[in-house]
This record gives sequence, structure tokens and C-alpha cells, in this order.
Amino acid sequence: MTQKRKKTHRLEIVPEECKGCGRCVKACPKDLIKMSVELNEMGFPYAICAGQDCIGCGACFYNCPEPGTITVIEQVESDEEK
Ligand code: SF4
Ligand code: SF4
Repeated sequence: MTQKRKKTHRLEIVPEECKGCGRCVKACPKDLIKMSVELNEMGFPYAICAGQDCIGCGACFYNCPEPGTITVIEQVESDEEK
């Protein structure tokens, strides 16, 4: 019996911390991040993760000037094979 581990990634973005600079949008190699049409409480459009194909590269996180706004979460699913 072998065990396979599959990693997936997803983003958490805190809309109220976002300053709407768009750096994460430009940085994402998979073009997964869009800006909202609505404004947050500070009057800025905010980043939204609009796709499922995040590869966990961290480019959005490292390019964001607002600490704590973007978190890249790694999820590990294990499938057992007989
Ligand atoms: S971790 Fe990489 S692929 Fe995932 S949303 Fe951020 S920049 Fe895009
Ligand atoms: S880089 Fe950070 S502050 Fe700028 S739009 Fe993206 S989440 Fe918002």
C-alpha cells in the first residue's frame, strides 16, 4: 500500500487591509487575482482571488506592501493506494 500526497493552494485576502495597489495582480504568473468593483471601508478596490489554479509560488504575498493582507495556504490531501 502506498500513499500519495497531493498539494493544492489557495489564497486568503483580507479586503479591509488591501490598499488597491494592484501589485499582486501584476505579480501572479497564473493571472488569478482581480480587483473588485466595490470599494472597501477605506475607499479602495480590493484584491480578489478569481481562480482555482494557484501554484503556491508566493509572488502575490512577496509583492504585497501590506503585511497580513495575503496569506497563501497549502493544503495536503493524501490518497491511499493499495
Ligand atoms: S501564490 Fe502565485 S499562483 Fe497563487 S495567487 Fe499568488 S502569485 Fe498567483
Ligand atoms: S498587493 Fe496587497 S495591497 Fe496591493 S492590491 Fe494586492 S492585496 Fe491589495
